[in-house]
Amino acid sequence: MAERFGNLFSHDIGIDLGTANTLVYVRGRGIMLTEPSIVAVNEKTNRVVAVGRDAKPMLGKAPPHIRVVRPLSHGVISDFEVTEELLSYLINKAHNDRSKLFGPRVVVGVPTGVTNVESRAVRDAAAAAGAREVYIVEEAVAGAIGAKLPIQEPVGTMVLDIGGGTTDIAVLSLSGVVSSVSSQVAGDRFNDNISEFVRSEFQLAIGERTAEEAKLAIGAVLPLATPLERAIRGRDLATGLPREILLTDSHIREALGPSLDTLMEQLKQVIERTPPELLSDILERGVFIFGGGALLRGLPRLLEKMLGVPVHIVQDPLTAVVRGTGIITEDPKRFRDFFIDEDAVISET
Ligand code: ADP
Ligand code: MG
Repeated sequence: MAERFGNLFSHDIGIDLGTANTLVYVRGRGIMLTEPSIVAVNEKTNRVVAVGRDAKPMLGKAPPHIRVVRPLSHGVISDFEVTEELLSYLINKAHNDRSKLFGPRVVVGVPTGVTNVESRAVRDAAAAAGAREVYIVEEAVAGAIGAKLPIQEPVGTMVLDIGGGTTDIAVLSLSGVVSSVSSQVAGDRFNDNISEFVRSEFQLAIGERTAEEAKLAIGAVLPLATPLERAIRGRDLATGLPREILLTDSHIREALGPSLDTLMEQLKQVIERTPPELLSDILERGVFIFGGGALLRGLPRLLEKMLGVPVHIVQDPLTAVVRGTGIITEDPKRFRDFFIDEDAVISET
């Protein structure tokens, strides 16, 4: 039906509703949007004043009556209304033609651990934005699909999605999630670790954005052949005045150390709970990582050393999830076992 009456249907949409970034894929067009998962709301009028890219510069700089929210920052939806605004803004901006008789089929990837109530809110928001069908899937699963891993075969696959608010770990086999865990040791936590380190080591208060810039510019979890350094500015805790210090990759390593130990422990727990046959597959094939955190210098090699398992960064790790949601739009039935919304209806179109 979709083929014969193709011109009556909107293009299908895949969305990676990440804790830090939301990506939108439009079938037949490709990845159309990459926006920070941020919404700014005017508390006085209760109106959304900015979404995504436009809202990001307001973080930490808005007057008291403007609330700048990252509604998914901890992997749970802290604010339903704001999440709905974000979704409908993105679906509409991704250029879906409202003149079409049938709205798009929409596949949304959400962080591991969202509750039924939360996934229902996502479904309702997508439906309200005009979707004719909505499917919801864990981002770790969507990423594995995007990376073309053989998760429908009787082979164990372990994936690690290191995002901003959460790191999602999943073991998959035969179209099922054997086990999955969501850790809050992820990019945001690393930024906090850097701020805390600079505060206690240098008596300097720095903003979240400065910490993140330092992480991207000089962060490395293993020693580098050529050390990196960067001047960063903040407020001296004693004098209250601005001051500049020189931060090095080894400072960042020290700052992140405890968090990385925690993450390793959590990974080991998942491995310990994995049935032996699947574990043997994972040992042989390795662990696949994606998400922005996969780009932290030295992380794959550190994981290899600590876990004794090969670690591969999937191709284009920041878009694996959204590409996976795009693949699902092509034939949702094939992936029905992965949908987390209980009453996801598979229509016959
Ligand atoms: P989410 O899926 O949770 O929205 P992303 O996969 O988009 O998150 O990753 C965002 C996180 O990845 C941020 O915390 C960001 O700082 C981090 N990140 C992005 N690029 C790098 C990099 N090159 N090195 C270290 N961290 C990075
Ligand atoms: Mg993600």
